[in-house]
Amino acid sequence: MTPPSSGALVVRVAIDNATSTFDREYHYTVPERLAARACLGARAIVPFGARDAPRDALILGIVGGQEGGQPAVRLKEVADIPDSSPLLRQADIELAAYMRGRYFCTWFDALRCMLPKGWERGPDSSSPDTVRGVRLAAPGGAGDGGITPFPEVGAPQGRGLEGKSPEGCAPQGRGLEGGTPKLQNEQQRRAYRVLDERGEMTLREAALAAEVGVGVFETLARNGVAEFTAIAADKIPGEIWARSGAEPFEPTPEQALAIGQARRLLDGGRYAEMLLHGVTGSGKTEVYLQAISHALSQGRQSIVLVPEISLTPQMVSRFRGRFGERVAVFHSRLSLGERKDQWLRVRSGAAPIALGARSAVFAPHAEVGLAVIDEEHESSYKSEMTPRYHAADIARRRCERSGGLLLLGSATPSVERYWNARAYAAAQPGAVGAERTQLGADGARIAQLGAGGAGIAQSGADGVEIALPGAGGAGIAQPGAPLAAYASMARRATPQALPEVQVVDMREELKAGNRGMFSSALAQALTQAMAEGKQAMLLLNRRGYATFVLCRGCGYIATCRDCSVSYSYHSDAGRLLCHYCGMSAPMPAACPMCGSGAIRQFGAGTERVEAEVARLLPSCSVLRMDRDTTSGKDSHAKILGAFRDKKADVLVGTQMIAKGHDFPNVTLVGALAADALLNFNEYRAPERAFQLLTQVAGRAGRGDSRGRVVIQTYNPDHYCIVAAKAHDYGAFFRQEIAARRDLGYPPFRHIGVAVVSGNDDARCGEAAKSLHACVIRDRRPGLAALAPTRPPIAKVRGKHRWRMVLKHDDELLLHAALRSVVERFSEEKMHAYADLGVDIDPFSMS
Ligand code: ADP
Ligand code: ZN
Ligand code: ZN
Repeated sequence: MTPPSSGALVVRVAIDNATSTFDREYHYTVPERLAARACLGARAIVPFGARDAPRDALILGIVGGQEGGQPAVRLKEVADIPDSSPLLRQADIELAAYMRGRYFCTWFDALRCMLPKGWERGPDSSSPDTVRGVRLAAPGGAGDGGITPFPEVGAPQGRGLEGKSPEGCAPQGRGLEGGTPKLQNEQQRRAYRVLDERGEMTLREAALAAEVGVGVFETLARNGVAEFTAIAADKIPGEIWARSGAEPFEPTPEQALAIGQARRLLDGGRYAEMLLHGVTGSGKTEVYLQAISHALSQGRQSIVLVPEISLTPQMVSRFRGRFGERVAVFHSRLSLGERKDQWLRVRSGAAPIALGARSAVFAPHAEVGLAVIDEEHESSYKSEMTPRYHAADIARRRCERSGGLLLLGSATPSVERYWNARAYAAAQPGAVGAERTQLGADGARIAQLGAGGAGIAQSGADGVEIALPGAGGAGIAQPGAPLAAYASMARRATPQALPEVQVVDMREELKAGNRGMFSSALAQALTQAMAEGKQAMLLLNRRGYATFVLCRGCGYIATCRDCSVSYSYHSDAGRLLCHYCGMSAPMPAACPMCGSGAIRQFGAGTERVEAEVARLLPSCSVLRMDRDTTSGKDSHAKILGAFRDKKADVLVGTQMIAKGHDFPNVTLVGALAADALLNFNEYRAPERAFQLLTQVAGRAGRGDSRGRVVIQTYNPDHYCIVAAKAHDYGAFFRQEIAARRDLGYPPFRHIGVAVVSGNDDARCGEAAKSLHACVIRDRRPGLAALAPTRPPIAKVRGKHRWRMVLKHDDELLLHAALRSVVERFSEEKMHAYADLGVDIDPFSMS
C-alpha cells in the first residue's frame, strides 16, 4: 500500500466475483505510469482483501485528484491497466447501474452482459485468431490463397485416394482429377455435396449444413477427399444462412401505414415506442426491414431480437439477404472467437445491425437508433437467471438514452403491452387525426380501473369509452412522454386467407365411444392431407411436472378457488396442490360438477402421439420435436430442415413447433389437448394458450392451398378457444383483462417473488419466515405478503427452495419492499447458508 501522493488520480472500480455483500464501488489511486490508460470502462487489476490478492475490476469513474494534505483514507493502488482502450462506455456503465438497482444483481452480473466473452484477456487478444475450416482437397495437397492447412496429426493428406472403386455417386467436384473420391455412405455424400456447392466454410457450419457430425469430415479428410484449413476469424466465409429476399417488397397498404409511422417516429429523433400488431403472415418482417433501412439512411444503428435464433433461420436469411455484411448475427453456435469477432464488428461500427436472441440486446452499439423485438410476447425475452432482466426493458432504456425507436411486433401481443398501448392511444385521442380515424372500428367499452401502467391519467373507476384498435389501421398518441404508437395489420401480405379453424368437443367424442387421442375429424383430416401429399403438424404441450386433473365427462378442471389456477397433481402424495398459494386438497374420487368417475390427471406425451400416428397411418413418416429430441447441438435446425425438405409427413411436437416457421407444404395443424394449455398452473396460462393456438394455426396454409386447423378440447366454450377459432385478439383481450383485474394480476397488480435456497431445508424455511416477518413488520400500505411456502419445484440441483410472494398495485413500491428483503437478507448474514433470488412479474411460478 503506497501512500497516495498529493494530487494522485483516484478511480472508482467494481470488482469481479464480488458477493452482493461486498459489491460496492471501491476507490484506488492510479500510479503515474498508468495514468494515461485510466479511463472509464477500462479493465484494471487491483489488489483486494486482506491479502491483496489481484482481482479483475472495471473502472466505473474517475474521481479526480486526491486532495492534498487530507489523507483521510489510505487508498490502495491499481496494479495494472492492461488494455490500451476501454472495454465499455459511459452508457454501458449507466445501464449496469440501472440493472443493479432494478434486478438486485451485482455490478459484474450486469457488466458481464455487456462485456465480450473472454474479456479478462483483453480486447486485443481476441482468443483464437483462426477458426477450423474445411474444404474439398485440392489436387496435390495444400491450398491456394495463402490459407495454411490446419495441422492434423495422424491425418496425412491424400491418403485413400487410391484403392477401392467409388460407391454410389461419383460427384464432379473440383480438385478431384487423379482419382474419384471414396464416398462410403449417404452422410459422406451429403458432406461432400455441401463442400462442393459452397466451397470453404467453418467446420461447424459445414457439419450443420450437411446435417452430419464433425467426424464425417474427419473421415473425408483421412480419405483425402477434404482438407482442414485455418480461417482467420474475421473472414469467415460460406455462412450457413442462405440469403434471400434482397429486394424490398412493394408494401401492402397496411405495411405502408406501419412503415410510414416508424419512419416518422425515427425522424422525430426522440424516444418512442411502437406496437406492431399484425396477424401471422401479415408481413411484419418487411416492416422491420424497411424501418431498419430508414435508420441506416439516418446513419443510425439497430438491434433486432428474435425469440430463439435456431428456430428462426428464415428470418436470419432475410436480414442477411437485405443487409449482407452489415448484419452481425449472435447465436449460440458461435465459438468464443467468433462471438468476439461479431462483438468487435458491432463495436467498430462495421456492422450497424445486430441480430440475435435475448442477449443481443446488449450489442455494443454506441447508440441504438432502432430496437426491434419480434414476437414480443415470448417468454424467452425474460431472463430466468441473474440478472433477471426483460430484453424489452433493456431495449427501452437504451433507446431512451439515444432518442431511438422501440418497435415491438406480435400477432398476439402480451396483455400488459396491449393494455399500455391502448391506454396511450386512449389518453390523447386525435393526436394524429388522419391515422386516428382508422383506429378502432368496434369502439368496445372497457372498464379501466387501477393503474393502467406507465402513469397514464385515469378517468375514474366507472369505465371509459375506449376504442379498441381493431381491424387494419394505425394510431398514434402522445401522452407527454414517451411517444407511443400502435399499428395493426389484420390481413396477410400474401393472397392466402387465414386458415379455417375447427374446434372439436372431445366430450362428444368420448360419448361416441372414441377413446383415442385423435378425434374422428382430425383423423380424417390427417388421412386426407396425406392422400394429397401434404404435410401436417401436431401440437401437444406436455410439461412433465405440471399434470392437472380433468373430468372427461364434463370438462371440469380442479382449480384453486383463491388463485384461479389449476391444481397440480402430485403423485408422490396423491394430492392436489396450488402452485401459487400452496393450498392443498385431496384428489377427488368423482367429479364435483357432474359426479362422473372419469376424473383423473391428464397429460399424455408427444411420444404417444407419434405412436398413434403410426397406428392410424402406418405408411406415413413422423418427426418428433420436443425437449427430448432437441438436447443435442443444432438439433432444432436439423429437425426443421428435414421437415422442410419433406423428409417426413408429420411433425409432432411441443410449443417449439409453433414458432414462426414457414412450411409451404403444411396444410393441416392439429392441437391435440388444448386443455393442457388452458390450465397450466400459471396466471399467464390463458394468454399463452391463445398465443400458442394462434401461432400454431398460423403455420397452416402458407403455401398455395388454404390451411386447416383442428383444435381438440374438453372446453370448447373457453374464451381462449372461441377467440382463437375466430382469429379475434380483441375478444380474447376483453375477457382476459377483466379476469386479470378481478384476480389482481398484472397489469393491475404486480407480483414480486423472493426465493431462498440452500442445502439446509429447515434453515432456508426459517430464513424465509424471518424475511416475511420483516415485511409484515414494515406495514407497507397496499402490500400483500403471502406466507412463505415451498414452490412446486421444491428442490433444484440439491438446493431446497422457499418462496415468498408479494403483491402491490405499484411496481415501484413493490420494488422498494423487495429491496428491504434483500437488505435484510444481507444484514442477517444469510449468505452464509443460503442464496436469495428476487424477481418481479415472473413468467414462471414454478
Ligand atoms: P409475419 O412475420 O407477420 O407472420 P412474414 O414477415 O413472415 O409475416 O411474411 C409472411 C409472408 O408474406 C412471407 O412469405 C413474405 O415473404 C410475404 N410478404 C411480406 N410482405 C409482402 C409484400 N409486401 N408483398 C408480397 N409478399 C409479402
Ligand atoms: Zn365432470
Ligand atoms: Zn391458490
